[in-house]
Amino acid sequence: MRMHSGRLEAVEYSIREIEDFARNYAAKHGVKLRYLNIGDPVKLGMGALPSVINSAIKSLRDGNNFYAKSDGADVAREAIAQFYDRRGMSVRAQDAYITSGVTEAISMLYLSIFNRGERIALPKPYYPLYDALARLYGIKPVFYNFDEHGFPDINSVKDAVKRRAKAVVVINPNNPLGSSMPKSLLDEIKEYVLSSSATLISDEIYSEMVYDRGMSYALRNNEDDKVIVLSGISKLFRVPGWRIGWAVFGRHRSLKGVVDNFRKLMMLRLCSPTPFQHALPHILSSLTDAYLRNYMGLLKRNAKIVYRKINDSSVLSVNQIHAAYYAFIKMGWRQKSINFVKDLIKRRGIVVVPGVGFGMEGHFRIVFAGNRRIVSENIDEIVDEALKHSH
Ligand code: PLP
Repeated sequence: MRMHSGRLEAVEYSIREIEDFARNYAAKHGVKLRYLNIGDPVKLGMGALPSVINSAIKSLRDGNNFYAKSDGADVAREAIAQFYDRRGMSVRAQDAYITSGVTEAISMLYLSIFNRGERIALPKPYYPLYDALARLYGIKPVFYNFDEHGFPDINSVKDAVKRRAKAVVVINPNNPLGSSMPKSLLDEIKEYVLSSSATLISDEIYSEMVYDRGMSYALRNNEDDKVIVLSGISKLFRVPGWRIGWAVFGRHRSLKGVVDNFRKLMMLRLCSPTPFQHALPHILSSLTDAYLRNYMGLLKRNAKIVYRKINDSSVLSVNQIHAAYYAFIKMGWRQKSINFVKDLIKRRGIVVVPGVGFGMEGHFRIVFAGNRRIVSENIDEIVDEALKHSH
């Protein structure tokens, strides 16, 4: 009898798997690595504000080190309701559930919604976790596409819904495309999905991280919405290691059973980290215009460099970037993305993620948070390497 299970045979996770390859190669050949593969601003020199850190220290000192309620600490749920309230959306605290990051929320949602063999509509390119967990749980993805601006193609979303998807995932602002949907498009998608029997899952982990236009939120008023919003503090407040996220459920009757399942799963894992939950009221209310201007200003300047240098090269191209810190770069020659990415590691020590990990060959994703000069130099090297490969 084989000791290990076969459950993970179909599961791949290239964001982190490529890092294993890079580390092994670097250890063997003494290459110094530059990590442009993980969307962690802290690793790229952009840590949290001191007041955010202090709120967690205070919470630890105040003794918030017990198991919190499984659904989440009341103060944290209230803080989330207020966060949306300040943005003109009405959310009841008891409809917000605190999870160990959006990551845990996705996993619990999948188990709460889908039986084996049922379908989910996912964006392509996707955030790899959505595909990996679908494989793990035996859920069948049907994919919808994006146009050249990095926006979901509405007809393709409609087709996916017609193929009997039980839920449709939108990621807005988008990883890996760095795009952010205009409100009119999001509303159109929402209206279509809600007029079917499907539910809309809106991953808003990059909420507020838009450079110019405003953020388009999926939830307006959770009174009767068949919408589930996932969000958290990892990216906006630059504390991904704290593992605090949330799911807000619309109060449509069809979601009642989903919430019951979700709450059961929450009990099975006790709670998400209590000290950080208790710091949440301070963290969420500390979001100032100045902080956002600063953070987005830096990312926008970096995005401009990436956009210009990539599109000026004759061999690479990228769509307009309006949000977050990702660029999904198209290779203008025929090569497997994993092979190019491995060469980039071997010859330059630059680690990026092959497009195949997002379900799209012929691309790779970079993260461009951090110091502008370093970003610019990294892009120059990537372009240099691309030029060598394309000839
Ligand atoms: N959803 C998307 C689209 C992401 O890009 C990420 C992280 O990169 C996550 C979810 C995970 O977020 P969290 O840190 O809250 O688990």
